[in-house]
Amino acid sequence: MSLKLSQQLYDELRAHGEETYPHECCGIMLGKTSEDGLHVASLVRAGNTRTDSAHNRYHIAPQELIKAQREGRKTGHDIVGFYHSHPDHPAQWSPTDFAEAHWFGCSYVITAVEKGKAQITNSFLLTGTGEDDKAFTNQHITVE
Ligand SMILES: [Zn+2]
Repeated sequence: MSLKLSQQLYDELRAHGEETYPHECCGIMLGKTSEDGLHVASLVRAGNTRTDSAHNRYHIAPQELIKAQREGRKTGHDIVGFYHSHPDHPAQWSPTDFAEAHWFGCSYVITAVEKGKAQITNSFLLTGTGEDDKAFTNQHITVE
């Protein structure tokens, strides 16, 4: 189950993190799920609503989620994942990222941005059925 997106969207996602550096960026990925993976069709940028410690926490406002869902439905797309950046931190999920992940079957993409330049981008699939058995699984990113 890999995450598939076009070179253009991949670049866009990474550029967002460079633009907001030294702060985190975050956004929503809209697309479709099929047997061979999660296909990203578009990105929706979200404002980082948590200003108290924007370096290591992010949050997408519920209104932004609803708006993105509505937007996606027009073209037959659903929320398939989320992305955010880690300014000067590795592209690995933090305990906070894990605690705040509740969308099972969705991808959580993290880009490390070092000194303003996007470095490694990793994706983690949230597996499980509830808070008791949830887990992040390393997910391959296919850029098409
Ligand atoms: Zn994070």
